[in-house]
Amino acid sequence: MVRLNEVRENEIAVAPPDASDAGLVFIGRIHTPWTSRLECPRQGRQDGPTCEIEIFEPWVPALDGVEAFERLEVLYWLDRSRRDLVHQSPASDGTTRGTFALRSPVRPNPIGTSLVRLLGRDGARLKVRGLDCLDGTPLIDLKPDRCLFTPIAPPQPGDFQTGD
Ligand code: SAM
Repeated sequence: MVRLNEVRENEIAVAPPDASDAGLVFIGRIHTPWTSRLECPRQGRQDGPTCEIEIFEPWVPALDGVEAFERLEVLYWLDRSRRDLVHQSPASDGTTRGTFALRSPVRPNPIGTSLVRLLGRDGARLKVRGLDCLDGTPLIDLKPDRCLFTPIAPPQPGDFQTGD
């Protein structure tokens, strides 16, 4: 169920410590069709709408070579999330799980990741499919899909996470 910043039954919020500066810089912005969490998908789909990743200067040259990859891992900052819940109730039914057992956008450092299909590059902009974030979401990093570099290992217990 979509969260709009309320604390639900049995959820636990804490007072987070002051931020320590990791020196993070936003390297771009993500353009998607979604302006509300009520309409945004929970996870991106490879057959989802085409979205654009805009890279800011001075990072545009860092895109060189990216066209060679069919899939990219995208890391982004879920900037409109609350950050203080340690137990959450995704189904809003009174049952809760720890934040680190969920892919919820509500987390102390609200980093989201998606594996996207690269459709093309136009200068500082990449066209991709497979995103699940709001329009204007800040971009943290882009990496080629790791499967292209490392052999695919058989699935291990705990590889697959459920819930969000
Ligand atoms: N695929 C990422 C992951 O697994 O790390 C994100 C999954 S998270 C469940 C996706 C949800 O986060 C969306 O459905 C939307 O409700 C919410 N969301 C998307 N963009 C956001 C933003 N910029 N700030 C806060 N919440 C956002």
